[in-house]
Amino acid sequence: MSDSSLRLVWVYPDLLSTYGDRGNALVVERRARQRGLNVQRIDVRSDQPIPTSGDIYLIGGGEDRPQRLAAERLRADSGLPRAVDNGAIVFSVCAGYQILGHEFINDLGQREPGLGLLDVWSTRGEGARSVGDVLAEGDPTLGLPTLTGFENHQGVTHLGQGVSPLAQVTVGGGNGGGDGTEGAWRDTVFGTYLHGPVLARNPAVADLLIKLALDVNALPPADTTWYDALRAERIASVGQNA
Ligand code: GLN
Repeated sequence: MSDSSLRLVWVYPDLLSTYGDRGNALVVERRARQRGLNVQRIDVRSDQPIPTSGDIYLIGGGEDRPQRLAAERLRADSGLPRAVDNGAIVFSVCAGYQILGHEFINDLGQREPGLGLLDVWSTRGEGARSVGDVLAEGDPTLGLPTLTGFENHQGVTHLGQGVSPLAQVTVGGGNGGGDGTEGAWRDTVFGTYLHGPVLARNPAVADLLIKLALDVNALPPADTTWYDALRAERIASVGQNA
């Protein structure tokens, strides 16, 4: 962080925000403030330039056409890759995740270039969409517990050598290729198929982003009563119906 406030950038809420992805911004804001941090939240519409001095960038999911428009504008802007070069943290969901990879299949059925910030690429799944609740064991090297979320995607994401899976699914499709992986990450860039919003369901992930932004290994404790109740309910109910 350059000064005493955490700069949180929500990328393209006008194009990429489905299933309550806005909640991800609210949860990062809230959990940072609970630790006494000042938070400056910047919502960047798709007709505005992406600032390069943010600490944490959030990119949500979207339907196929808004996803193509978002990819076109993000490629033309180049602010996000420059922010990552500056050490920024990026957390992306579903369509946003696919855009961070090398390429995905757009609404016209064509290969659309992504930003190449994650060594992943997405193809169009031949079978039914992956839709429904997900349970996944978070990468222990990141200190993540069981994650819960909701997925809805046709794309199948393939992981290259340059990334690790964010989690391994026990229920649901995750990346969709049948290998049980869910999401991907490398250094400060993260992608997941989990909606929910994912950070409201999994506050450990929000805390991970804040820790990376502060460059610390631990944060002062912050109450998780409501998040825990939601997680416990989801784990019990989804696990039972699996
Ligand atoms: N359009 C993408 C797909 O179906 C992403 C969907 C989403 O963000 N929910 O794979």
